Amino acid sequence: DLQGTFQLHNGVEMPYFGLGVYLSKDGKEVINAVKNALDHGYRHIDTASIYNNEEGVGEGIKQSTVDRKDVFLVSKVWNTDQGYDSTLKAFDASLERLGTDYLDLYLIHWPKGEKSKETWKAMERLYDEKRVRAIGISNFLKHHIEDLLPDAKIVPMVNQMEFHPYLVQQELIDFCHSIGIQYEAWSPLMQGNIFDLDTMKELAKKYNKTIAQIVLRWDLQKGVITIPKSSKKERILSNADLFDFEIESNDIRLLDSLNCDKRFGPDPDNFDF
Ligand code: NAD
Repeated sequence: DLQGTFQLHNGVEMPYFGLGVYLSKDGKEVINAVKNALDHGYRHIDTASIYNNEEGVGEGIKQSTVDRKDVFLVSKVWNTDQGYDSTLKAFDASLERLGTDYLDLYLIHWPKGEKSKETWKAMERLYDEKRVRAIGISNFLKHHIEDLLPDAKIVPMVNQMEFHPYLVQQELIDFCHSIGIQYEAWSPLMQGNIFDLDTMKELAKKYNKTIAQIVLRWDLQKGVITIPKSSKKERILSNADLFDFEIESNDIRLLDSLNCDKRFGPDPDNFDF
């Protein structure tokens, strides 16, 4: 169901379906998106300091009918804040803007070479001090993870990656899951491009569901956490209406077979700032 969870390797239950708020404007737009999502069953909100909407996210939680403790709140440390002291400072600033005294999950937004090891030490400290319930990474390919692990005391609980039928990266998913890192999808709707695919149109017709519901259901059946973005109330509600059907295994394979390693976002190996 909408509030169902996957268990992270430290025992924390993470809702496998959430709301993404990248490009939801701070103020009314993001406040209403978060409030509408929480009031209609969502329990997981994904933001980042670089989205410039943490204040609105915090306000949306306050204005909703859901208690803070029942929301799984995620934010991320931005590239220019990587490093030990600067990560601790960035975390405090995010909490301040969000109007809360803890996060459920804090992620390194992008890998940044050796610097990420210092960042990770700060993340481990925040975790040890119980200021965050889980810590993880985002946009880490296998070699980035293998670089980080020898110096890590704590294996990241989550890796949030671009993931959709054109970018499956099954080997990376299997690698992450084999070492206890939960895989999570960003841009699960291909930033809107999913709606043009003929295969998606055919599957939507076959199952009598929307294209968004089909692809998001595929995420969950593959064991991948998903955080579709919308600011529109009807879409926020309908995107989450995917718990009354199941995609057959041959159609899961059909969706997998659309993979062509195409990105709509930046390549983690060619993105530095
Ligand atoms: P997405 O794949 O969720 O697509 C969002 C787009 O689809 C928007 O334009 C929206 O208006 C449209 N849409 C949503 N529901 C629809 C519907 N039912 N019908 C028609 N159109 C619909 O794209 P995203 O926002 O890039 O990714 C989701 C979330 O992932 C982000 O909001 C953010 O929280 C996270 N993210 C993380 C990273 C990272 O580096 N870690 C990068 C990008 C996004």
